[in-house]
Amino acid sequence: MSDTPSTEEFVAGLLAGDRATLGQAITLIESRRPDHVEQSRVLIEAVLPRTGGAHRIGITGVPGVGKSTFIDQFGVDLCEDGHKVAVLAVDPTSQRTGGAILGDKTRMGRLVNEPNAFVRPSPAGAMLGGVTRTTRETILICEAAGYDVVLVETVGVGQSETIVADMVDFFLVLMLAGAGDELQGIKKGVLELADLIAVNKADGDNITKASAAAADYRMALHLTQPASPNWSPPVLTCSALDDTGLDEIWSQIQAHRVKLGASGELAATRQSQELHWMWQMVEDRVLTSLRANPQLAALIATLEGDVRAGRLTASHAAERIIEAYGTG
Ligand code: GDP
Repeated sequence: MSDTPSTEEFVAGLLAGDRATLGQAITLIESRRPDHVEQSRVLIEAVLPRTGGAHRIGITGVPGVGKSTFIDQFGVDLCEDGHKVAVLAVDPTSQRTGGAILGDKTRMGRLVNEPNAFVRPSPAGAMLGGVTRTTRETILICEAAGYDVVLVETVGVGQSETIVADMVDFFLVLMLAGAGDELQGIKKGVLELADLIAVNKADGDNITKASAAAADYRMALHLTQPASPNWSPPVLTCSALDDTGLDEIWSQIQAHRVKLGASGELAATRQSQELHWMWQMVEDRVLTSLRANPQLAALIATLEGDVRAGRLTASHAAERIIEAYGTG
């Protein structure tokens, strides 16, 4: 980006909804060059009053469940209804694969040709922490550019689902009707994150199986404590391929917004997400600076040896590291 626009140009382009400017702004946010980092901070602060207006929706599911087919169809339907739809990806595998699994534009062939849609792949080669920061800030930039639906796609690997659930208003989990025990493959944690479970591929010969799977998931959800006092996550079936059931999912997303908006929970959740994120960044920075501190290196090496050998308890060693860091 040798010809990076000025902050004023960025703001003007974004507020005008210019897609090329939006793409450049995200590239700026993804850049680690110190002057870009500083400019993106100024830019985000400048557009902050114009942010917050989107339905922020996370979508997860195992590879092959139909995420890209779903997002393509769902996004096109929303564009036809007059919405502006942005699609982002948090891809924990991008470090290894170069970002091939998620947010690949070729996987959303129709949506990328919609003038009111914007599809951004996960930055390749970035650490998960870096992807988290850029995705959070990209959501804000998309909102400033007038996108009223932001879909954040992820896949159930490692911490990525929790990370995405912590940056969205609504977390949609796509599932499959399997051959055998439906509940075997579910990570318990994902049920607690879900605001809606949709059993995809409910078409053709698979309709009955999908309904049976939905009943099983409903039962499993009954056994978990709902995350919100104002919302019991529904379990639906859909076919991304046939575009059936997607309307109902959108209705539920809207109902969720109305309910949690009215109770104040939506605003409270967003506030606590921001605060959690602030502390997360403080923790990351402090830990990085502590680990990189040359004065502590010898002490840390000694203490690690002592803990390993059982000469010192972990909590005592931790205390000594913190003490040395605090006075260093
Ligand atoms: P992803 O890996 O989760 O993004 O899944 P894809 O969207 O790439 O879909 C994986 C495969 O399932 C593709 O062959 C899709 O055509 C197919 N697929 C996706 N959604 C449906 C659906 O609703 N019904 C059926 N029958 N196939 C689907």
